[in-house]
Amino acid sequence: MGGPGRARAKAAAPLDGDTPVQFFKGVGPVRARMLERLGIQTARDLLHQYPVDYRTPAVEKRIAELQAGDRAVVRGQVLDVQTRKSRHGRAFVVAVLGDDGARLVLTWFNSPWIAERLRVGRELIATGEVGHFSGRLQIVNAQIETREEEREEENAETRSGPLPRYPLTAGLKQAPMRALVRRALEALGGQEPEPLDAERRAGLGLMGRPQALRTIHAPESMEEVETARVRLAFDEAFALQLAVGIRRTRLLRRPARVRLREHTGISSAYVQSLGFELTSAQRKVLSAVARDLRAEYAMHRLVQGDVGSGKTVVGVVAMLFAVEAEGQAAFMAPTEVLARQHAHRQVPLLDAVGVKAELLTGSTSAGERRRILAGVADGSVQILFGTHALIQEAVQFRNLALAIVDEQHRFGVMQRATLGSGGAHLLVMSATPIPRSLALTVYGDLDLSIIDEIPPGRQPVQTEVVDMGRVKSVYPELIERAARGEQSFLVYPLVEESEALDLESAEEAFERLQKGPLAGIRVAILHGRMKADEKERVALAFGRGEIDALVATTVIEVGIDIPEASFMVIHHAERFGLGQLHQLRGRVGRGAHSSRCVLAPSKQASPQAWQRLRALAGTTDGFRVAELDLRERGMGDLHGTRQHGELPFRLLNPLEDALLVEQARELATSILESDPELSDATNGDLADWLAQMGRRNPVWSAAG
Ligand code: ADP
Ligand code: MG
Repeated sequence: MGGPGRARAKAAAPLDGDTPVQFFKGVGPVRARMLERLGIQTARDLLHQYPVDYRTPAVEKRIAELQAGDRAVVRGQVLDVQTRKSRHGRAFVVAVLGDDGARLVLTWFNSPWIAERLRVGRELIATGEVGHFSGRLQIVNAQIETREEEREEENAETRSGPLPRYPLTAGLKQAPMRALVRRALEALGGQEPEPLDAERRAGLGLMGRPQALRTIHAPESMEEVETARVRLAFDEAFALQLAVGIRRTRLLRRPARVRLREHTGISSAYVQSLGFELTSAQRKVLSAVARDLRAEYAMHRLVQGDVGSGKTVVGVVAMLFAVEAEGQAAFMAPTEVLARQHAHRQVPLLDAVGVKAELLTGSTSAGERRRILAGVADGSVQILFGTHALIQEAVQFRNLALAIVDEQHRFGVMQRATLGSGGAHLLVMSATPIPRSLALTVYGDLDLSIIDEIPPGRQPVQTEVVDMGRVKSVYPELIERAARGEQSFLVYPLVEESEALDLESAEEAFERLQKGPLAGIRVAILHGRMKADEKERVALAFGRGEIDALVATTVIEVGIDIPEASFMVIHHAERFGLGQLHQLRGRVGRGAHSSRCVLAPSKQASPQAWQRLRALAGTTDGFRVAELDLRERGMGDLHGTRQHGELPFRLLNPLEDALLVEQARELATSILESDPELSDATNGDLADWLAQMGRRNPVWSAAG
């Protein structure tokens, strides 16, 4: 590209999608920088800068009518504006908006520039989601428009439909932003590629893509907006499924090192020794695994199942399939405590069916380690349990056929890849079940199996919310249970006393309880800062029933399986995420006893905190909890997604749009089945479209 002179001369040339925004009339270097802050560099970026919402007079509300949770447009007068500093030194802006004596607080984080537009006395239209803060209604990061801007706009506007509002940044106002998008739309809207032919569109009931783009920016009605959003959201899901599908073929299709031919009877002997029948959900997953293990390419399968659904046994039987195929298998657990528990249980059971298994962790002694590594290298150790220690270079398997990654959200994609690098089949197990549509989106490169059944005979854990001030009232129950041979967990968020936080720690509680309320029973403490052998000693003693009540931190969050444990009290419960509380609660109710979990919020916990704890108390379904959790924390925070980068969706919500995700997955799969890399001429347009999407965001790129 030439110098600025050439660039100016080009301004008259027709726009195409790659035209930089500086070439737009009215965009100088200053405005170009503003647009860049919004991620807009080209004409196409403008086209895909979707409105955050729309202004229609019909939706304006009085402040007095507002309720928390509303998405609202309100008009009022600015009564007060202040720029304040947070404890971390970051500036935030607080304004008060009034109408007819009612008041609404508006707060903005990370946008100090907004204060300039908020002069006291001005009339303002604010849009956003209404929430609570210290008992008052507020909108955080509202979109705003001043009355003058509105007037300018009314004069400029010839269209009658809802007016789009775009995300803005310092110095950039709504009206010029709208004009820019409109210009891009006029020039390029018609050239927008359409990845679906008329027949597919009709089959799916979707609007055309170019039309959807026009509609989202310039709708006649709000109903139209939703139709357009659905179409564009479908495309976001579709592009992801195509890209993931192609990447998977290209990169993940690894020839399997070992293929299962026939079962020799080891796996069925093991299952018979268990003393219970597998649930039909467990059997279904195992037959999918057996099918995968017979195939030419290595397995990449994710097993999702709620806490206590019996994933460990599924993993062990899968490993025995590998042994039947004369290969070795590895089982990687996220914590030492958990790895030890698995080995402690399984090694004798495996020994009984003639299979040699060992445990390798960071604290295995040097001599032991040497002996085990030799066995792994010569193939005499057939199954190896362990922690991250398993993926160190020194661990050389003779013939690794299958690797299991337990509680996968604790590990990264890289660790998965390391285990699978020699052509081993991979089975990933997750105890943080997420709705299927979301799993297809986040873990699109894995096949998905779901254990949707809990072994029979369990009674659901009764959950109750009890103020921490009254938590003493549950100790008699704990002592009674101890007398019957049942065990309890007392969970705390912190290991030791903290100056910054006014919380009781596990160590303080241990001291206090042991001397006072629980003096008559056997109490011990377990937390992450203890030495490995200490931890093991306590975990084993608890497992043998030599401890009645265990004061613990979240080290017990995953995996720990003690059938006699029937009672849990979680202190300062508001400090934990819902998913985490569900995991913790899953440590009880694993045997035949009727079990209880008490969630004890601190005295200072807010009404909202109580509400979410009550919501958790009201359900025992992990998938439901995951949904609540995701709604609460937002998708970006999802376990295991960090390595995928932020999900790029502007319009798709994988939770709400589950059907779209399924349809997109189905269509992408059927297309890639006959043309795995989209290289056929008949799919040329589709390949071009995908390439264009891929330039917008790497998750849509088939090259990644
Ligand atoms: P998770 O899915 O949370 O990893 P585990 O594998 O730890 O669950 O299993 C929980 C408990 O259920 C274990 O004690 C296990 O032996 C038992 N279990 C597993 N499958 C069955 C079954 N089909 N019937 C009865 N008990 C089972
Ligand atoms: Mg488990």
